[in-house]
Amino acid sequence: MKTAVWYTSTFLVIFIYLYCYLVQFIRGAEIRPQLHLHQPLLRNRLGGAQPSSHMASLPPVIVGAPSHHLGWPSAGSSAGNQHPSLQRHLPPLPPPPPASVFSDYLTPGNMAVSSSISVSSSVSSAPVHPSVTAAPLTPATPKPLDFGYHNYDNMTAWLKHFSASNPDLTALYSIGKSVQGRELWVMVVSSSPFQHMKGKPDVKYVANIHGNEAVSREMALHLIEHLVKNYREDAYIRWLLDQTRIHILPSLNPDGFEVAREGTCTGGQGRYNARGFDLNRNFPDYFKQNTKRVQPETEAYKEWIAKIQFTLSAGLHAGALVASYPFDNTPNSVYQAFASTPSQTPDDDVFHHLATLYARNHATMYQGVACKPGSPSFPNGTTNGAAWYPLTGGAQDYSYVWTGTMEITVEMACCKYPPASELPVHWSEHRQALIRFVGEAHRGVRGFVTDGNGRPLENVAMKIKGRDAPFQTTKHGEYWRILLPGYYRIEAYKEGYEPVEDDFSVTDHHATQVNLTLFKQVDSKNGFGTLDDVSNYYSLSASDEQPNKRHPSISNKQDVPHPTGLSGLLITLRSQMDNLFANLFG
Ligand SMILES: [Zn+2]
Repeated sequence: MKTAVWYTSTFLVIFIYLYCYLVQFIRGAEIRPQLHLHQPLLRNRLGGAQPSSHMASLPPVIVGAPSHHLGWPSAGSSAGNQHPSLQRHLPPLPPPPPASVFSDYLTPGNMAVSSSISVSSSVSSAPVHPSVTAAPLTPATPKPLDFGYHNYDNMTAWLKHFSASNPDLTALYSIGKSVQGRELWVMVVSSSPFQHMKGKPDVKYVANIHGNEAVSREMALHLIEHLVKNYREDAYIRWLLDQTRIHILPSLNPDGFEVAREGTCTGGQGRYNARGFDLNRNFPDYFKQNTKRVQPETEAYKEWIAKIQFTLSAGLHAGALVASYPFDNTPNSVYQAFASTPSQTPDDDVFHHLATLYARNHATMYQGVACKPGSPSFPNGTTNGAAWYPLTGGAQDYSYVWTGTMEITVEMACCKYPPASELPVHWSEHRQALIRFVGEAHRGVRGFVTDGNGRPLENVAMKIKGRDAPFQTTKHGEYWRILLPGYYRIEAYKEGYEPVEDDFSVTDHHATQVNLTLFKQVDSKNGFGTLDDVSNYYSLSASDEQPNKRHPSISNKQDVPHPTGLSGLLITLRSQMDNLFANLFG
């Protein structure tokens, strides 16, 4: 009898769950505005406090300490106003990356020298040094990129050849290797390809994280070629490359691509890496514990974005036609999947703008037409990630929460691996969107933070008042933040310095420059400087001496208990349904 009851209960749970998913599937991604749903959680997660108009009243907090207070000094005790359960669930935020640039490795002089790459599958804090391609020193006229698919060997040959032929506008480097030893190439396209331009933003496109979403890989290659070829004739592209460094990673999953098949529009063959892991479920997650073993591709990616402060980013996928934006995940457990509820960031207005801008600059995405009957349709061609379907361990949430990069996900085509004959159409539809999107890195506020002697201050905790998503300055004291037109207040805090805040306005299509100076706090007891003051005078900071030795080992910090309240059965079901959705879409 007991067994019968158990089977009946289990059947009912499964039935209800599947039914709810089916309802969501049919409904598609209906977005219901729910402003700042998770703001308190993010504030706690990032060590934030309630916005204060009086910075001086904030108690000092050790910014550099290995604690939860990386972001903003919290009001009150170090525990702040965090709910105990939240404290237990929230992983510590690693320090943000310095504005490390590949000038440390990548100079014209060592262009022909290929340094070694060390990426292991295990979690390691050892720095990964991007290698420089052994490009030939005698440039030749590059052949135009054909509208076909390029396997790893062909892609590598083209990238090397193209970069060698255009050394003034491109630089090729690898961030590491795939499981099967394929290089994870990145092409920088910029009028300063070898060196970061101080004060100017770095932007990235990352394609083909799912190996069978092959159209994204070819779009990335065509973008490289188009930017370079039109630098001299196209005034906008020239401005873009003069003001921006665009890092394009055409394939984060080259092993998966090799086993995917042209003409396959759906399904999972080639989606995963060579060990069967979905790389876009392999990152530390803001909301939930991610127990997946970290893969070499993921590790290389994390090391990369820890070294370079990217202002703006897009992950390029396929399987749908939509621009999706954070959060991809939600704190609301399994029930979120039933409701199609957005999981909004404090920068929701900015993300919505970025996704809309992409969709509007695409030929048809903005129309929001469903890929086929029964598929979801997306009003205006955009969706909040979690409103579509929540996922754990995605790259875009990681980029935003851990590195302060504004990242969206572009699903480029209904068919993941369309016939090559369709590539010219896809390229013509995406070209303008891909180019215009990069320009958004020049919207908002930017500047330098220095001390009283004009020296750049690294790791200054910055925040736009009312947006509890702190970010930090680079080793050059730079910062960038994309904002829509309006009036804002920026706040800066660093241990041992008097906090500073400043008002500014942002206009359309024009970045506002706000430079800030932080002065040392004076010890009120003896009138002398603090200990930090002394150490600053007598030793160089470690980051100056070893700019690339400082890497957050994020995956080590996933000591977060799994959310309770879900039965193992539901969790398993949820996971399987996520996979189903992932295979159906991007
Ligand atoms: Zn995908």
